[in-house]
Amino acid sequence: MARVFKARMILYAAYGHCIIREDGSHYEHPHWFELAKEKKTSIGKITMEYELENSFDSREQMLKSMQDNWQVMQESIQRGIANKDKSLSGLTGGDAIKLYAYKDNSYTGNTVMTVAASAVGVSEVNAVMGRIVACPTAGSCGIVPAAIKTAAEKNHSTEEEIVEALFTAAGIGLVIEANASIAGAYGGCQAECGTAAGMAAAAMVQLAGGTPDQVGTAVALAIKNLLGLACDPVAGLVEVPCVKRNGFVAVHSMVAADMALAGVESVIPVDEVIDAMDRIGRSLPRAVKETAEGGLATTQTGRKISERVFGK
Ligand code: SF4
Repeated sequence: MARVFKARMILYAAYGHCIIREDGSHYEHPHWFELAKEKKTSIGKITMEYELENSFDSREQMLKSMQDNWQVMQESIQRGIANKDKSLSGLTGGDAIKLYAYKDNSYTGNTVMTVAASAVGVSEVNAVMGRIVACPTAGSCGIVPAAIKTAAEKNHSTEEEIVEALFTAAGIGLVIEANASIAGAYGGCQAECGTAAGMAAAAMVQLAGGTPDQVGTAVALAIKNLLGLACDPVAGLVEVPCVKRNGFVAVHSMVAADMALAGVESVIPVDEVIDAMDRIGRSLPRAVKETAEGGLATTQTGRKISERVFGK
């Protein structure tokens, strides 16, 4: 179990009382992209207003919560890229530091490898019970911080802009949770890493000064290419394939953001992509919904690891 920091706004997007009624039904969520265009503002600002209307916090408290989240995200990256600790199972730990040391010799280049190392690092911190921000979940916790840190550095973003980008990411998480799912046990890994990819891509576009349409395109592109992704963690632990997958998906989100910023469009609009995500999630077999009864978990090696870790 990860010790998850109080990722308030993002968890609101995930499970919070602002979108789920006591009877379990969802509140109607605003049509974020249309609203942002109509009001000539950003998805981040729309999300902030939505949160203000639906939480008991003042604006200052809400902003402070998100600043605290960003602080924890940065600390988890710093710890992650220097991490030599192995997880209790021994399956993960020590890879982020290798990636970070190797980045200058890589095919993909310094920026891509820094994103990958950072995302893997945060995931490793999660695997050793360190403090992370679940965004949207602990299993996918490396993607958003790695992407935002890279984009913020490239764009020389202010703290205020970073917080707005975090709200952008949270808003995307909120929309996906309300219309599909952010739980691997419900929708497969597309729901966790796929959602995180959409959140990260959206935040990156926001930090580059992209339009709400470009944010929507980045989300659509990021999610489209992860639809149907299996959740098949070896031995049921959030380590394999999760930790390295965070590295891959963080890079994936960066490509989606770049495509959108370059003017590439998604043939399928973002709302329809999220609807497809919901339908695919529902139709995935139980074996690849975090049960460890299929996929990588049931390979010969996966089974041996499970026996070694749990004696069964
Ligand atoms: S494989 Fe499953 S447990 Fe791992 S990150 Fe994806 S959804 Fe979470």
